[in-house]
Amino acid sequence: MKAIVCVKQVPDTQGKVAVKPDGTMDRSKMATITNPDDLNALEAALKLKDETGCEVVVVTMGPPPAEGMLRELMARGADRGVLVSGREFGGSDTFATSQILAAAVNKIGVGPEDVVFCGRQAIDGDTAQVGPQIAEKLHLPQVTYAANIKKEGNTLTVKRMLEDGYMTLKVNTPCLITCIKELNEPRYMSIPGIYSCYAKPLEVYDYEALKDDPLIETDTIGLKGSPTNVYKSFSPPVKGAGMMVESVGQLVGILNDKHLI
Ligand SMILES: Cc1cc2nc3c(=O)[nH]c(=O)nc-3n(C[C@H](O)[C@H](O)[C@H](O)COP(=O)(O)OP(=O)(O)OC[C@H]3O[C@@H](n4cnc5c(N)ncnc54)[C@H](O)[C@@H]3O)c2cc1C
Repeated sequence: MKAIVCVKQVPDTQGKVAVKPDGTMDRSKMATITNPDDLNALEAALKLKDETGCEVVVVTMGPPPAEGMLRELMARGADRGVLVSGREFGGSDTFATSQILAAAVNKIGVGPEDVVFCGRQAIDGDTAQVGPQIAEKLHLPQVTYAANIKKEGNTLTVKRMLEDGYMTLKVNTPCLITCIKELNEPRYMSIPGIYSCYAKPLEVYDYEALKDDPLIETDTIGLKGSPTNVYKSFSPPVKGAGMMVESVGQLVGILNDKHLI
């Protein structure tokens, strides 16, 4: 049994966001972190490992330095890593990204008891499309926004968070679950984990490794093959400083002065 976790390395948007003159993000000038929701997805997989002894495989699509993130995830408890990396994959939109990741998950192999975990959403692209699209491409049932997961045999009982409440449903394995921060508290790296992470296996899947998967269509991956592209991006104008009012009376006075009421 396996838990496969899709993890994205993202720019640290808590710091200063570097923007190129053309308005796109300058990733080379920004520190990277593991996408926060994906740490919850990893923790869900590690909890499954604690309960069942299953293998945890972390997979990311990104440039070669993303190996460092995979090593860190192995120090947290993952058993092996897969780095999907190649020029042909660069500039992929969400449709192409999920196609490539689905092919990678296919190559890792999804058995009857396996679970694929994703974060709900990446903090840079922010679309929340990749997890559901991977599920569709692999014909796996999916449950999104998981806030609680219990596994009994081949059935997972998942509590989903909705805008105004929760929904609990059962899903059979193999399946894909997208995870939110309310699901758990991600564990830290352990000292033995840090010692052993460089001895754990890490495979690189390049274009050659995936090109024969039926999910990979050469004309729908990468920048050229992506069916969507960014038309324009811009930073919103900086707003002026706000003003604190002490009372409703003061607010009414200000609005009156401006002839707004
Ligand atoms: C219209 C459009 C055009 C784009 N063009 C470009 C471009 O030219 N160049 C470019 O670099 N980027 C481009 N992007 C960004 C790129 O497509 C996204 O970063 C990528 O598809 C993931 O989408 P997301 O960030 O919205 O992830 P989400 O769908 O929000 O992520 C959900 C979950 O999917 C998994 N996941 C997502 N991405 C990965 C990954 N790479 N590896 C492993 N797991 C992952 C994670 O578990 C994550 O929590 C474009 C995006 C859009 C919408």
